Amino acid sequence: MKHSQPLVIGNWKMNPISLLDAKKIFSEIKRSQKKFSGTSVMIAPPAIYLPDLSRINKNTSIQLGVQNINPLPSGAHTGELSLPMVQEFGATFSIIGHSERRGNGETNDEVALKVVSLLKHRITPVVCIGESERDEAGNFFVFIEAQIKSVLSQVPKTRYKDIVFAYEPIWAIGTGKNATIDDIMEMQLFIQKVITKFASRTTANQIKILYGGSVHGGNAGLLFQSGALDGFLVGGASLKPTEFLAIVTATTI
Ligand code: PEP
Repeated sequence: MKHSQPLVIGNWKMNPISLLDAKKIFSEIKRSQKKFSGTSVMIAPPAIYLPDLSRINKNTSIQLGVQNINPLPSGAHTGELSLPMVQEFGATFSIIGHSERRGNGETNDEVALKVVSLLKHRITPVVCIGESERDEAGNFFVFIEAQIKSVLSQVPKTRYKDIVFAYEPIWAIGTGKNATIDDIMEMQLFIQKVITKFASRTTANQIKILYGGSVHGGNAGLLFQSGALDGFLVGGASLKPTEFLAIVTATTI
């Protein structure tokens, strides 16, 4: 059983389509914050909403973050946002290597560079890993191992504990098909084994491992009770406050 404080992270992606709606969703979650004192709640809205949501996020324990970042501090990078920019508006974490970005060409090396830069700025990297499909022979483990290794090989071992890994099988994202408890337990052990090879069992135990992929209020409790997880990365359900809060409640210890 895990003993660390659970995390539930909402990835709003490119939603909702207005600031007004973003404020409504955020305020509804904020109103229930007393109920989730045992769990860290983190929300990654579209970055353009960050200043406004940051303003209404005073005196709460909710953390705001971004869905991607450029690892460089400034310069000629059209359309990009840097860490100091989002940090000024309250970002404390960044999702990195989401499969929707990897699907657009983001490489393991680029993900690793972003993680290094985030750690330097003391912003938590939430690194998404996950296979597109499972094969009987278990070759997908090799794919996942490469995703983890490319990050760990660039980061000093003393900072491993500051990384969060989110296991998000691509076939489970937004499909309504979640990984089974057995799949998740097996993957958690595998991720820990890979980290142990790089560092130690103690370090492996310190790194938080989340699951993402069609998590909702109805399945979060059972998945969390497996004892393999430190929490969830939630896409679609994070835009529905009641559903999102049910997931948070399922992890509250
Ligand atoms: C995601 O995109 O990170 C995700 C987990 O999506 P969903 O919860 O909608 O499957």
